[in-house]
Amino acid sequence: AVAPDWDRVRLDFPLLMREVHGKPLVYFDNANTGQKPVQVIGAVDEYYRRYNANVSRAVHALGTEATDAYEGARTKLARFLNVRASELVLCSGTTFAINLVAYSWALPRLKAGDVILVSRMEHHANIVPWQLVAQRTGATIRVAEITPEGALDLDALRKAMTPEVKLLAVAHVSNVLGTVNPVREICREARKRGIITVVDGSQAVPHRKVDIAAIGCDFYAITGHKMCGPTGTGALWAKREHLDAMPPFLGGGEMIKEVSFEGTVFSDAPHKFEAGTPNIAGFIGLGVAVDYLESLGLEHVEAREGELLAHFTEELGKIDGLRMFGTTPDKAAVVSFLIEGAHAHDLATLLDLEGVAIRSGQHCAHPLLQYYGVAATCRASLAFYNTHAEIERFIAALNKVRKLLG
Ligand code: PMP
Repeated sequence: AVAPDWDRVRLDFPLLMREVHGKPLVYFDNANTGQKPVQVIGAVDEYYRRYNANVSRAVHALGTEATDAYEGARTKLARFLNVRASELVLCSGTTFAINLVAYSWALPRLKAGDVILVSRMEHHANIVPWQLVAQRTGATIRVAEITPEGALDLDALRKAMTPEVKLLAVAHVSNVLGTVNPVREICREARKRGIITVVDGSQAVPHRKVDIAAIGCDFYAITGHKMCGPTGTGALWAKREHLDAMPPFLGGGEMIKEVSFEGTVFSDAPHKFEAGTPNIAGFIGLGVAVDYLESLGLEHVEAREGELLAHFTEELGKIDGLRMFGTTPDKAAVVSFLIEGAHAHDLATLLDLEGVAIRSGQHCAHPLLQYYGVAATCRASLAFYNTHAEIERFIAALNKVRKLLG
């Protein structure tokens, strides 16, 4: 298939047309959250205008339409990720998804002496739940270290996979460095040793074709709002055997077959893990986001973002005193940097006045920044709808801001 006309694609994103502080917006904060195309916004709007009803409860027409659309979104998302819909738990995002694994899979199984292996480059969402499990079970956390370039040290990782290790938590793509981890190889090594793998796919699924079945992990977590979908949507994929063996996490309506005061019969997975009224509008929007990304073609999205990254990296390389974090060859379009003598927050604040949106701070990855010995970085993260002209405007704004900061 031919690559999309990216100038036309950009027109699908109304927010990108706005101004900020009287300047045209340059939105380079896509790793934080992505913008939404009119197709997704329209689908959410249409649900509320035409068939707002609860799912799986009412026999009336609206209830059926809403349920079909909600379950249809699950089916689309499953096909998109190459997994079975019956193994896809819909939830509010990666944070919920990983906590579900922590509370329902890990908490009942781990014990003192067990080890949870966590990579240095994890987002707090893939660190803190494991610390909570460790505190309650007596298990300990072991860190899988990285190289200065920002790659996982694979030799060290293999060595760290000792018999005490029961679970490995690793990001598919780092939200700070952009590093694409070889999760397929890592999961193969873990599987050989009987280690359960939890892959955080938040930053991978929006930017490249992800085939969960091919990765061979035990759990894979995704978030909808970074992949053109609404906030408060996401999913956990897990192998059927795990889902069947896991107790429910939250109890309530929607997740039961039968309730009496003597006891409750739970629904089968995935509904067993979906207590209460879900984010129906959000998942209908997410289903349309999947259609949208598929219509672009993930191979084209990856190529486009690769070109933008190459241009951006070359331009940043010309700036004196700029230090880049994460310089591995296989990298998503996420660039963390610092400029000598300037505070990250000052840079981001002054860039905002130029209409440029980036993130500054620790990016929910304190241990990673501790490794580099810095308190904060600036992070610019690009998406397919960004342009080469925006990169030029970013660089011009950065040069202006550098002069202001002396
Ligand atoms: N993991 C990674 C790598 C992320 O980038 C994010 C989002 N910043 C999360 C987890 C958490 O996602 P959410 O807040 O949508 O649950």
